[in-house]
Amino acid sequence: MSSFSVLVADDSPIYRKLVEHALAEDSCPVSFASSGHQAIEIFEREHPDLVITDWVMPDLTGIELCQRIRTGAQSSYTYIIILTSNAEKENVVKGLSAGADDYLTKPFHRDELLARVHVGRRLIDLHRQIEAKNRLLEELALTDPLTGLPNRRAIEDWSARQLSGAARHGFSLWAVLMDLDHFKSVNDTYGHDAGDTVLKKFGEVLRANTRLSDICGRIGGEEFLLILTHADEKSVLVVVERIRKHLAAERFIWNGSTVQVTASFGVAGFSGKQAPEFNQLVAQADAALYRAKDQGRNRVELVSVTSA
Ligand code: GH3
Ligand code: MG
Ligand code: MG
Repeated sequence: MSSFSVLVADDSPIYRKLVEHALAEDSCPVSFASSGHQAIEIFEREHPDLVITDWVMPDLTGIELCQRIRTGAQSSYTYIIILTSNAEKENVVKGLSAGADDYLTKPFHRDELLARVHVGRRLIDLHRQIEAKNRLLEELALTDPLTGLPNRRAIEDWSARQLSGAARHGFSLWAVLMDLDHFKSVNDTYGHDAGDTVLKKFGEVLRANTRLSDICGRIGGEEFLLILTHADEKSVLVVVERIRKHLAAERFIWNGSTVQVTASFGVAGFSGKQAPEFNQLVAQADAALYRAKDQGRNRVELVSVTSA
């Protein structure tokens, strides 16, 4: 089972002890706060999964504590149980609507408290599973399954942020659009699996030849996009030439034939105070790529930098 920790907030030392005894057999980590403010301090430091809080405390009520926890910028859900001698129905309603998940009155039955903590734990375990699945889905939504590289959405998200940074801090940003040459004939002659092998190999070439601080990914069928920052024209061309040569040097063997595959590259860059739209930059790179195709393929074409 996953880790599970509890925070108990109560200004009465006797009740802190009683709760401690009730939870003892679970042997999960338990922290104790003797005031509302201390509870918040511990909460922010330890992010407990479950909070058991008294209603009336001298500095801050359990209701206020609930509200603080619910309105805080939390990444994970916290289960809250109010434990109070305040048994009136309207207070139960008030506590639950302030964000508590459960409400128990003092004096409490030891096994009942424990059973309710277990309910909380079941719910927290479920929450944690959903949170982990969501993280995984988010990652998958940004990844191209074939190459494991970022996909178009991931590159667009990253680049939009980098572009505004480039304009603000005056660093350059380059878009390199890449497209495999005569790729349809690879598929037609050697089959779709052969084509997939080329795509994966090109992904590896890209990964091996780019800095971690840059991003490259697959944005469509046999189209890849590389974004570089903080580089001048000359060093961008060195990087792109290296990628071009690496792919051209690969030898694929299918049906007893040795096959070479090449790609064409279109480069567009920007540096200045006025950032273009990301799509605009990619459109410029696309125009350069078209020229590279037109002029014989397996080559790099560049659009001069726009300085605004
Ligand atoms: P050009 O040099 O002008 O770019 O010619 P091309 O044949 O590469 O371009 P075209 O756009 O005509 O064909 C692209 C081909 O890419 C067609 C399609 O079968 C193939 N393709 C697209 N996605 C995939 C994929 O995921 N796997 C494989 N194996 N092939 C793909
Ligand atoms: Mg192509
Ligand atoms: Mg294409």
